[in-house]
Amino acid sequence: MIHLRCNDVKYADYIGKEVTVRGWVHRLRKQKENTFMLIRDDRGGVIQCVLATEKALTLTIESCLEVTGKLQQDSRAPEGGYEIRATDLKIYGVAKVDYPIGEYQSEDLLLDNRHLAVRTRRMSTIAKIRASILKYARQWFIENNWLEVNVPVIVKDAVEGGSTLFKVRYFDDDAYLSQSAQLYLEAMVFSLGPVWSVTESFRAEKSRTVRHLAEFTHMEAEAPWIILDDLLRIQEQLISHIVQNTVNENSADLGYLKRDLSDLKSIEPPFDKLSYEKVIEILRSKDFVIIEDNGNERKIEWGDDLNVDSERELTRNRSRPIFVVDFPISLKPFYVKEDHEKEGIGLSADMLAPRGFGEISSGGERENDITSITKRIEKESLDPKAYDWYLDLRRYGSVPHAGFGMGIERLVRWIANLQDIKDTVLFPRTMSRVRP
Ligand code: ATP
Ligand code: MG
Repeated sequence: MIHLRCNDVKYADYIGKEVTVRGWVHRLRKQKENTFMLIRDDRGGVIQCVLATEKALTLTIESCLEVTGKLQQDSRAPEGGYEIRATDLKIYGVAKVDYPIGEYQSEDLLLDNRHLAVRTRRMSTIAKIRASILKYARQWFIENNWLEVNVPVIVKDAVEGGSTLFKVRYFDDDAYLSQSAQLYLEAMVFSLGPVWSVTESFRAEKSRTVRHLAEFTHMEAEAPWIILDDLLRIQEQLISHIVQNTVNENSADLGYLKRDLSDLKSIEPPFDKLSYEKVIEILRSKDFVIIEDNGNERKIEWGDDLNVDSERELTRNRSRPIFVVDFPISLKPFYVKEDHEKEGIGLSADMLAPRGFGEISSGGERENDITSITKRIEKESLDPKAYDWYLDLRRYGSVPHAGFGMGIERLVRWIANLQDIKDTVLFPRTMSRVRP
């Protein structure tokens, strides 16, 4: 017996042969004599099966079954013109008739029933693209001799500022859910060299945007003796490797999502570098305004951080990512090293995805001098004692080093061309949603 997995086989090789497909009833049309079903297999592939209606009376949408029969070519059959003329049927589970997911449904209903909505073609297509992105990221790191490590997610220290920390009860004490693996990766470069990790990061983001989640998958890397230029080269290569291989492997999936592939195929190093100063100049020349907390509008000026709108404006007409470098150090966290040739400027870079998608990574050289970093911690009104173990890394054999953090969901959102970051994960966590 030949078991079909719809997307993995060339149907033409099996015409006239007896085949079996296992899956779920995706569409169902019962006629007097024959019943036409679209069966969805366990990788989201579909094929039409035709069955005598008298054998199909109990079947409902999402019933789970195994169909055996002859594979035939029929130009009327949806999804490629092949169908199975069923002779045998094994039913594993008849679904209740009130399956809540249909074709045109509100976003809220789909999110409330995400445990079922993950079966839609769109969600499984995105999940496959996401898996490729992770696979080729890992492949790049392995091929380039980076060591994969794991870090704790229950921590005591803030990396990205206290306002987005999730507090958890930890035995008789309080702790937090990690915002980033960075501090731990920094500790590891002393004995493991270039290291990287994929870890869930948690941020209590109060603003609802199409690119923020409360829990996201964070790919982070850190290496000793590298400088900012090296870090940019590493990210260009990594991104190009991920994009080229994903396009190659998932062209049909990307096509299903109506992703323009030519843009992606053009992604290769080097990416343009723009200084923060230049970026502000460009935005000012377009009369770009920002809205202050009190609701007032004013033209953007030097010293303002880049937000979702300014990043969209900067990348709208570009087909490749860009790096924004030379940010004022005041806009960056305490661990970003200052450029000694340009006072007040940090040795960091944000990578912005093209076509308006905006920031996908942030990274830079880390301040490795104990006196400078202690001063920076104090300047940000943080308590150096809270960073005691981290400061030991500067006390005992401090080494120049650099690293970056990249959001997998941001990468998926860009590569798969999705508007809402919630679609990049199967079970999104946002301010208003923590189940299912
Ligand atoms: P943004 O300015 O877009 O809010 P950030 O600068 O606060 O992001 P970083 O601290 O630089 O974020 O985190 C590194 C990377 O992690 C970001 O470039 C982004 O890809 C990803 N990331 C950060 N916060 C989120 C989030 N809430 N949801 C999804 N991805 C995120
Ligand atoms: Mg950032």
